[in-house]
Amino acid sequence: MRPLVAHIDLDALRHNYQLACQCAPQSRSAAVIKADGYGHGALACARALAGETPAFAVACLEEAVVLREGGITTPIILLEGIFSADELALVDHHQLWMAVHSAWQVEALLAFSPREPIPVWVKVDSGMHRLGFAPENVSAVWQQLREAPQATSLHLMSHFATADATDSRYFQQQMALLQMLATTLNAPLCLANSPATLAWPVAHGAWNRPGIMLYGSNPLESATPVTDQLRPVMTLRSEIIALRDVEAGEPVGYGGRWQAPRRSRIAVVAGGYGDGYDRHAQDGTPVLVNGQRCPLVGKVSMDMFTVDVSEVPDASIGSEVVLWGRAANGAVLSVDEVASSCDTISYTLLTGVLPRVPRRYHGAFV
Ligand SMILES: *Cc1c(COP(=O)(O)O)cnc(C)c1O
Repeated sequence: MRPLVAHIDLDALRHNYQLACQCAPQSRSAAVIKADGYGHGALACARALAGETPAFAVACLEEAVVLREGGITTPIILLEGIFSADELALVDHHQLWMAVHSAWQVEALLAFSPREPIPVWVKVDSGMHRLGFAPENVSAVWQQLREAPQATSLHLMSHFATADATDSRYFQQQMALLQMLATTLNAPLCLANSPATLAWPVAHGAWNRPGIMLYGSNPLESATPVTDQLRPVMTLRSEIIALRDVEAGEPVGYGGRWQAPRRSRIAVVAGGYGDGYDRHAQDGTPVLVNGQRCPLVGKVSMDMFTVDVSEVPDASIGSEVVLWGRAANGAVLSVDEVASSCDTISYTLLTGVLPRVPRRYHGAFV
């Protein structure tokens, strides 16, 4: 079989979730497992966290139904609420919680008769300018829902545009607005994503919504003592499938982007953009060969890429290659570091691992 496999360490996922909870001991943390658990497999992640988390957060009804049909009975919040009024029947049937960000969603809810009142998180646009009610309209929506028999357990929800940045001015502007609204409405808050969970205790509310940190990626611009404790959940592992020596000046791969500066040992690795490994990976993008860092050289192909293993004397056909994650010898290559070499973020790499890559689950909760 082709050796490329995404190994998912569910113990690491639980560890990272517990770390998110320790960052915010006064909050409940809804584990965000949208986009198929950031590419890790939402149902497997949910099963591993079901005994830990008081709620899961997903983007949409379809993602919640997968969890319910897989036997997950934990509360699930739909972060974008419904996409059409007819979804309310399934929201009710599966006893989901929902965000409302637009007037039409409120109207649809008020025209519906659920068996049980639906827990609702009212989303306010405090500066992200993506989803949510304008601050001046929130109070009317809040009053309307507070009196509605269809809704219960109202929370005020918002999202930060810059919680990961060292320059905190815009974050503080959003935060000040939210604190004012929370006081006016006497509303419990749900604000913090991973960076705010890690870096902004002031944003910790009744609920937080950590996502990427659960998968072991550090969303902040630099490491902290807490982010140093995050463990990679996904190890994208492959093997060397061919080796050759090239002379100084010889090009390797499409377009000859990389040319050997000296006689070099080139390993071909099973894995390419047809698996979700980023074609933007620059020369020098790190990989671990037998647990030792080596530079990717040459453009990534659909099914393969090439690595300079001149410094790894024991590299041979079948040697372990870790694209990100943890090598057999314990060495770790962070997906964040790979992402920065690809001029992207860990979120796109992790959600971008394609279905052709088999997932293999490890840990006590498989
Ligand atoms: C995805 C998402 C989160 C989680 O964000 P991370 O940066 O992955 O922690 C939180 N809240 C909302 C509304 C989201 O869409």
